[in-house]
Amino acid sequence: MKLSEIMKNGRTAFTFEIFPPKKDMPIETIYKTLDGLQGLHPDFISVTYGAGGSAADTKTADIAEIIRKKYGIESAVHLTCLYNSKEDIDRICEQLRERGIENILALRGDRNPNAEREVQTDFTHASDLIAYLRTKGDFHIMGACYPEGHMEAASLDADIENLKKKVDAGADHLLSQLFFDNDAYFRFLDKARAAGINAPIEAGIMPCTSKASIERMVTMCGASIPSKFARMMARYEAYPDAIREGGIAYAIDQIIDLVSRGVDGIHLYTMNNPYVAKRITDAVAPMINPGLIRQE
Ligand code: FAD
Repeated sequence: MKLSEIMKNGRTAFTFEIFPPKKDMPIETIYKTLDGLQGLHPDFISVTYGAGGSAADTKTADIAEIIRKKYGIESAVHLTCLYNSKEDIDRICEQLRERGIENILALRGDRNPNAEREVQTDFTHASDLIAYLRTKGDFHIMGACYPEGHMEAASLDADIENLKKKVDAGADHLLSQLFFDNDAYFRFLDKARAAGINAPIEAGIMPCTSKASIERMVTMCGASIPSKFARMMARYEAYPDAIREGGIAYAIDQIIDLVSRGVDGIHLYTMNNPYVAKRITDAVAPMINPGLIRQE
């Protein structure tokens, strides 16, 4: 089913995110991840776009094509505009069309001190890229949102005003930054709806598999850590298996709460770890759309 239809028909979406292999690794290493995710029947798998600024990097689109054609799963590409000019975006859109990829998460991206290119000035914000992509054909366009506010925004309210610009520019649906505090997510959702943002919003869930990885992510994105979660990480810090099990249990608990409170979708940051994705999917699949049997 096309993504635009899934998001319109009232089902709860269940989607995954993966990242391409490192530069010096062959693209085939992604098969191991995809082999493990295939049987979990996500509504789509999105593929991140490197922050390195290389105009020649087609790994994201190559992998999105593999997901569609080899694995028969809907796919989406992430696309950033900080290091891409209009000409680059035109070329990338052409490549996506040739590969049959219809879904784009349109982002600004972050400055990278090791970027291979200069910052480009054709687009300032993700909303500019979204408006441009709208003129490039019939893509399903997504935007990013930040339940606890984007790090650069003066306040959550200011960030939500800017989020409205993304939707007004043509974003069909939104994927959220990771968060660990569901109440913070619902406060954001109430504000977004009150601001007239009616597009479906998927809640971003990242399972904690190690204390170091979560601390790194939290530093990068500013997600708050509820005391229940902090206690778990502190108590089991020296026991990687216990942290992983606690992280899986916490993510499952978060998803069940979100789904029973009626969220539009769950976007699972798989971190290319099919074992963890499978554990979580097996636990939550019956609650995601009760009565709807996920295709075997
Ligand atoms: P924007 O929407 O442009 O927002 C950036 C800042 O500018 C915010 O503070 C916002 O409030 C403000 N702003 C926005 N519009 C306006 C406006 N019109 N006027 C004034 N201020 C404005 N990065 C990657 O490099 N590769 C990826 O694959 C990737 N995937 C991601 C996936 C998800 C689900 C998320 C949530 C983030 C992802 N990122 C990725 C990170 C993202 O690029 C950064 O968070 C970046 O800092 C902001 O991107 P954005 O698209 O939200 O930018």
